[in-house]
Amino acid sequence: MDVQVRGGDSLWSYSNTFNVPLPLIINSNPTINPSMLSIGQTIQIPGYRLQRYTILQGDTFYKIATRNRISIDGLFLVNPGVNPKELQIGQTVNIPKRITTTIINPRQNYDFKMLTADLEVLGQLYPFMRRRTIGHSVMGKDLIEIQIGNGDKIVHWNGAFHAYEWITTSVIMEFINTYLLALTNNETIRGRFMFPFYDQVTLSIVPMVDPDGVELVLNGPPDGSYGEEALQINGGSTDFSGWKANIRGVDLNNQFPANWEIEAERKPKQPAPRDFPGYAPLTEPESVAMAELAGELNFEKMLAFHTQGEVIYWGFENLEPPRAREIVNEFSRVSGYEPIRYVDSFAGYKDWFVQDFREPGFTVELGQGINPLPITQFDEIYQKTLGIFLASMYI
Ligand SMILES: [Zn+2]
Repeated sequence: MDVQVRGGDSLWSYSNTFNVPLPLIINSNPTINPSMLSIGQTIQIPGYRLQRYTILQGDTFYKIATRNRISIDGLFLVNPGVNPKELQIGQTVNIPKRITTTIINPRQNYDFKMLTADLEVLGQLYPFMRRRTIGHSVMGKDLIEIQIGNGDKIVHWNGAFHAYEWITTSVIMEFINTYLLALTNNETIRGRFMFPFYDQVTLSIVPMVDPDGVELVLNGPPDGSYGEEALQINGGSTDFSGWKANIRGVDLNNQFPANWEIEAERKPKQPAPRDFPGYAPLTEPESVAMAELAGELNFEKMLAFHTQGEVIYWGFENLEPPRAREIVNEFSRVSGYEPIRYVDSFAGYKDWFVQDFREPGFTVELGQGINPLPITQFDEIYQKTLGIFLASMYI
């Protein structure tokens, strides 16, 4: 919601008027110098939207404010051209409405178009959530990174490294909306106030690492040469429900230079729906973008969300720091998922991250069943993952 600056206003006064934490207002207006507001300037207030209201007999601003549980100054702010002493029956005014529920619905087959549309909606309502493009998929789709928070501690999450594991994107998006809502409204999640997290942690999130692959699984092959190639790799079948790879048949989580040669030796030697590690490490734009992101940002910890198995892989070649054990034990306590230190698998993002940065990295396998997990498992998975999301910020 936008307001126009009046004489004497400050971001602090808006924080009081709308009862929204000041840093969220400051961060929602990154180009504004908070100590130099000018009259008429537009300021974005997160977590509110305007509702039109038609004046009835006997209405006053005081009554409208009381009835809507908002401050009368808030009402003045969003009705700059209205004289409250001369309200006319039938006249329409603005009412600032606090958003009190989540507004996106990721409990459905969640494709790239839904993701970008939802991020647009969330970005409008919660402008303190930062969005940027960290690269492009083979087919040119944006690889989107979201950042939330002001902390020095950067915690990174990613989802849908594997195409048919797109439910990880749904779960991440549900949390993002829930977190933005709790931050703006000063609410708790599982009994914890979220605002200290905002101050201490910067969340870096890539919700969909393989957007071309997710589209292929959910919507079938695209027109043109990439679609034809994918059909050929899939043995002519139009059933892509078993597809893990990117659009050209490279398994993105087998692409990283951490014993990549071992995987190359024993995995498919050419493009395939799953497990082909590429002809060399880091040949695919999606895996390159993820490697560059880890190089750019100093992740304090990294969580890659996959399905399925209800396990958390947390070691690599004894290179993981000692605190990785303590962290995974907390993840396990809050989710019931089983920690597994080593597994005969290499060249994953977690493996490479632990090897190159010696920071805690985790592959979290959500849910139980046969991939792709059906969306009907969403609520159960979300409840278990929620504990891990929160723990990744506080521990
Ligand atoms: Zn996976």
